[in-house]
Amino acid sequence: MNSLPKGPQAARLRQRKFELLSRFNIPPDLLPGSVSLSHFRCGKATCHCNHDEGHPAWLCLSKMSKCLRR
Ligand SMILES: [Zn+2]
Repeated sequence: MNSLPKGPQAARLRQRKFELLSRFNIPPDLLPGSVSLSHFRCGKATCHCNHDEGHPAWLCLSKMSKCLRR
């Protein structure tokens, strides 16, 4: 049974989620339930993060859901 929401809005939200997640440098060996410090670039052309490691962000991943917290 597929419980994923359907429809154009759900597809847009999934695409948005993928875009946001792709900004983070997620380690390939990250385990479910892990909390790790990562960095991301916000995409603003004038921001300092274009020239350094980016904005720090804590990532926590659980088995049931993914959450991102700056
Ligand atoms: Zn930035």
